[in-house]
Amino acid sequence: MKTAEQADNAAEKLAAKPNLVGMRREELTQHLVALGIEPFRAKQIWQWIYTKGVTDFTAMSSIKKDTQALLAEHFSIARAGISRNAISFDETQKWLLKFADGQEVETVFIPDAPRGTLCVSSQVGCTLSCTFCHTGTQRLVRNLTASEIITQLLVARDGLGEWPGASGDKASAQGAKGDPRSGGVSEAKGGKPSSKDKSQWAVSTDPRQLTNIVFMGMGEPLYNYDNVIAAIELMLDGDGLALSRRKITVSTSGVVPKIVPLAKDAGVNLAISLHAVTNELRNQIVPINRKYPIEELLDACREYHSLVPSRHIMFEYVMLNGVNDSEEDAHTLVKLLKGIPSKVNLIPFNPWPGAPYTCSSNNRIHRFGRVLMAAGIATPIRKTRGEDIMAACGQLKSMSELKKGQKVKL
Ligand code: SAH
Ligand code: SF4
Repeated sequence: MKTAEQADNAAEKLAAKPNLVGMRREELTQHLVALGIEPFRAKQIWQWIYTKGVTDFTAMSSIKKDTQALLAEHFSIARAGISRNAISFDETQKWLLKFADGQEVETVFIPDAPRGTLCVSSQVGCTLSCTFCHTGTQRLVRNLTASEIITQLLVARDGLGEWPGASGDKASAQGAKGDPRSGGVSEAKGGKPSSKDKSQWAVSTDPRQLTNIVFMGMGEPLYNYDNVIAAIELMLDGDGLALSRRKITVSTSGVVPKIVPLAKDAGVNLAISLHAVTNELRNQIVPINRKYPIEELLDACREYHSLVPSRHIMFEYVMLNGVNDSEEDAHTLVKLLKGIPSKVNLIPFNPWPGAPYTCSSNNRIHRFGRVLMAAGIATPIRKTRGEDIMAACGQLKSMSELKKGQKVKL
């Protein structure tokens, strides 16, 4: 069967019954009680889904067969379909996922031992049209559900072979259904890994390759606030995915009214896509600035920090040649950030077909960084990862969109 058909089938399956993936725990318990199943089963089911990665109720061996059947009759635990799975020469992996309505988003895994970061999408496309961002040029936009956000983690864990026993125990590695190694619904670049890639397909024995989550994929997370908060709650649940707040980062282009609520509702790391130091320039390149200018944005950051004092705020700054990368800009940035415990992440601009910018030279990036570091601000320069598979920061845009007009080699 063709990969696309398999992805369609998985998407249909998702549409058919309520999916337990992404459902709040209280809601799961209520459903169980309504079906006459003991409420304590909720924790067991939860663990099967989030710590064992099962995709089939029959694999839940601690649950009676007739209860398994009842659950299967009413619910699904399916993931999204995988339309495509590509692996970069630098081991960055990208999955193009397909949901019940046929919409697609991308999820990227960036290994950087001892860490592994999953860059998740929060929307199909983005309404905000930042001028340097490929996602912002996508026409179709909708919010992802909490289930569609969480499925990205589960698919990544499937693909990375991270569930306990994944190296051979089929019952506990059922998630590998979407795993290219199993000949499932996904497809590596060119259908299967090339010989140079083979080592990447060895099943890992380290259960914690995926350690960090960043909401830096497609979409503006704070425009999908409720679902993002629900997904974060699921990520933090100690009986399930059990990630810590310190390992989760939400990146926003500056939806000011949601920044303080995020501190209260989630308390995770905050990243701000600043990219310019004057309102004049930011109005042009990050158009949400026209609604919420830099001063209001930084006030919200100060308040965020007073509520979540243990964390620095990360300011992302894309390096656009001759646009925002002068030494004077760097000095102005130092002044703006005074009093906010900050880190600045300089992101080399990742070009995409038809992009109106070029990336600043290494010299200019380092010169800019030195000014900040001299002022005591930690200023890492982000390594560009997954460029060859269009998985680099800001390049994400669904392949179906690309097929409509643009030519991109994958
Ligand atoms: N919408 C959110 C999160 C997704 S974008 C936000 O804007 O913060 C994640 C990061 O990638 C943002 O800092 C964004 O500005 C940056 N980005 C977008 N396009 C880029 C590109 N072409 N090159 C480098 N970084 C880019
Ligand atoms: Fe949307 Fe973020 Fe891209 Fe701007 S940078 S268009 S907010 S995804």
